[in-house]
Amino acid sequence: MINPHVKALNKSATLNITALTNKLIREGKDVINFAAGEPDFDTPDFIKKEAIKALASGLTKYTPSCGIPALREAVAAKLRKENSIPVEAKNIIITSGAKYAIYVALLTLIQRGDEVIIPSPYWVSYPEMAQLCGAKIKFLQGRKDDNFKINVAGLKKAISSKTKLLILNYPNNPTGLTFSRKELEEIYQAVKDKDIFVISDEIYEILSYDSLKHTSFASLGDANKKTITINGFSKTFSMTGWRLGYLAAPKEISEEASKVIDHTTSCASSIAQNAALAALRDREWPKHVQAVFQERRDIIWEGLKKIPKLKPIKPQGTFYLFCDISATGLTASDFCAQLLQNHLVSCIPADSFGASGFVRISFATSKEQIEKGIARIKDFVKLSRQ
Ligand code: PMP
Repeated sequence: MINPHVKALNKSATLNITALTNKLIREGKDVINFAAGEPDFDTPDFIKKEAIKALASGLTKYTPSCGIPALREAVAAKLRKENSIPVEAKNIIITSGAKYAIYVALLTLIQRGDEVIIPSPYWVSYPEMAQLCGAKIKFLQGRKDDNFKINVAGLKKAISSKTKLLILNYPNNPTGLTFSRKELEEIYQAVKDKDIFVISDEIYEILSYDSLKHTSFASLGDANKKTITINGFSKTFSMTGWRLGYLAAPKEISEEASKVIDHTTSCASSIAQNAALAALRDREWPKHVQAVFQERRDIIWEGLKKIPKLKPIKPQGTFYLFCDISATGLTASDFCAQLLQNHLVSCIPADSFGASGFVRISFATSKEQIEKGIARIKDFVKLSRQ
């Protein structure tokens, strides 16, 4: 009775642990939440005010399926100015979250049996969404001793006549690592003459540390002709619950993708779209968020790197730290389960991100909580058996 593609889907490991963490918090337990996939602070007031204004003035109806023209214009202007991507409003589709933008892009491009290359470790939802569209996945396994970089020779080898897409995500969830311009150029050289598209998920773009500059893949050479850039408002503006993201694609793709929106969600929330105009007008908030997370990154890195048996990777971006826990003698699942049960710290085993022996530790919480969490992890590791 059930579609086998749906049957084959895995439950989201991150959402499961988040649910358990929230349950313990509701029960009054003093849990340190290192599992979160969203900023801990509230949506800023200047965005909320714009939403209230939209509600009061009756902007409560369906919008055009691709999004309100002013927001498509504003997104295109942002991508031109800040990301050097040559796009106009017609290239932009506003979606109910960046996750849905990725799904719409996949649905628009994939035919049953097409191959999609996903560098690993990867964000959990890529393979699931691609499989739902009938794609075959080829993982490109990164190596820890190579900082999980994309091996360009391996990438070239993985591309076959059936390859339709490569999915890039940087700064990366879960590794916290990013690509330099040089590394991106190398990837571009490997794909530019092939008949394949790139989905470049840059949702964590503003969270790059130590003055690293984010380069958009679509800004390289002619890459914009075969790249779909994904971004959104969830992480930068603490708007995860508003469900608002976007894709930027060549016109032939955005026009077709808009039909998927027509017949599925109709449009993203009118209230969220109008509020997002205020978000894009303000260029100070992203800088503030970056500075807050840079400080937290420094604290968690300094704390965890001193704990024997843990081998953390210094995050270059995002609010995740990827940590090799194999020297504790525990599997990542046991590590996370015991840490939550005995020391009330929640983090995510990275098996469902394509890496065993690693956990993802989110530092999207206050400095005090981060310090408390580090102390608890230290106690926990001291008691572990090896
Ligand atoms: N891409 C990545 C890499 C993410 O981590 C997330 C959120 N966890 C998304 C996309 C989706 O973001 P949203 O749908 O909330 O805009």
